[in-house]
Amino acid sequence: MLDRLDAQPPDALLALIKMYAADEREDKIDLGVGVYRTNDGATPVFRSIKLAEQRLIDEQDSKSYLGPEGDSGFVKALMPYIFGDDETLAARIEGMQTPGGTGAVRLAVALAAKAGVKRVHLGVPSWPNHAQILDDVGVETVTFRHSTDKGTADLDAVLATIDAAGAGDAVLLHGCCHNPTGIDYTAEEWAQIAEAFVASGALPILDIAYQGLGQGMEEDVAGVRTVLDRVPEALIAYSCDKNFGLYRDRVGAFYMMAEQPDQLAAIASNANALARANWSMPPDHGGAAVRIALEDAHMTQVWQDELDEMRSRMRRVRERLAQADNEAPGLGLASLADQNGLFAMLPLTKDQIVKLREEHAIYMAGSGRINVAGLHAGNTEKFIAALADVTKG
Ligand code: PMP
Repeated sequence: MLDRLDAQPPDALLALIKMYAADEREDKIDLGVGVYRTNDGATPVFRSIKLAEQRLIDEQDSKSYLGPEGDSGFVKALMPYIFGDDETLAARIEGMQTPGGTGAVRLAVALAAKAGVKRVHLGVPSWPNHAQILDDVGVETVTFRHSTDKGTADLDAVLATIDAAGAGDAVLLHGCCHNPTGIDYTAEEWAQIAEAFVASGALPILDIAYQGLGQGMEEDVAGVRTVLDRVPEALIAYSCDKNFGLYRDRVGAFYMMAEQPDQLAAIASNANALARANWSMPPDHGGAAVRIALEDAHMTQVWQDELDEMRSRMRRVRERLAQADNEAPGLGLASLADQNGLFAMLPLTKDQIVKLREEHAIYMAGSGRINVAGLHAGNTEKFIAALADVTKG
C-alpha cells in the first residue's frame, strides 16, 4: 500500500544547505537559512536562556506530564509583551503552549476550520509552510498580492480581500517582519485593515514570529494591537524561536480572542482537543526556560539587551545595503532600510542567483530571498560587489 505514495519534492532550502556545506571556498556566504547570525556568523544560545536553563536544571523536580495547554506560566508571561496591559482585553484571551510557531499556526487554522471557516486568504509570497498547513488542514487557500514592486505593502489588495471576505472566511496576516519580503504594514495601513475587518466580519489569523526583531518589542505588535482593539474575535500564533533563539526547542504559543470572556472555555476546549489529537502536549524545556527568563528581572533585562543588539545589527546591515544602492543605483537594495526583520526579497533572475552561487559563493533561496543576518561587517562589501557584478549591463 505504501508504494502508492508519490515522492514529494525535496525541500529546496535543505538542498541549498547541503550545497553550501560542500563548498570549500573560504569566503562563502550563506544567506539561505532563516536563523539569526552574529557578526561572526554564529547562532549562539542566548545568555538569558543559558541563565534560565541553569535555573531550570537546578530547580525542576519533575518531568511528569502537563496538559495539552503546556506551561501556563509561560503562556501568561508572554501576554503583556504581545497584548499590552489592557485587562479587559486580556480577559477575552485564552492561550496555550504549542510546538513552535508552526504548531500555533496549525492550531489556528484547524480551530478556524472546526468553527466553520472554509477559505483562508493569504498574501503571497508568504512563509511556504502557511500554504502547506492550509492545504493539509483542508481549507481553501485564496491568495492576494502582499507587496508592490516598489517595496511597499499592497494595501489595496489586502483591503479588497478583507472587504470581499465575509463571515466564514479567515485572513492570515504576518504581525511583523514579513517572511519573505520584510515588508510590513505601516500604522496607518493597520488602522485601515482593522476597520476593514470590522466591516467584513472575516476572522483575522495573526502570525507573529519575529517580535522584537523589526523596530522594537512594542513597535512590532502595534499593528496587531490595533486590529485586536477593534475586532470581536481573532486567533494569534506566536513563535519564541527567533526572539529567544530557541529554534530546535520548538517554543510557540497560540492565543484565542473571543468576543466575550465567557465564550473562552468552550473555544479553548476545542483547541485543547485538536492539540491532543496532533501532539498531545508541547515539548516543555524551551517554554519553561522562557517563563523563567520572563519572571526574573535580571534575565529579562539580559534578554532585552540581546534582542536590542540583534535588531540594531540587522538595521546597520540594511542601512549599508540601501546606501550602496544609493551610491550605485540598480542593485535592488534601495528599500531595504525601510523594511524589517531577517528577510528581504531581491529582484534577481534565476540566472543571477545561480551566478552569485557559482562565481561568488553566495547562497540564497531560488526565490531571491536573503537572510539579512547572514551579512556582517566582514562580508557585506563582498556581497555588494558581487551583486553589482551579476546585475551589471
Ligand atoms: N510563521 C512565520 C511567518 C515564520 O517565518 C515561521 C518560521 N520560519 C514560523 C511561523 C514558525 O516558526 P517556528 O520555527 O517557531 O515553528
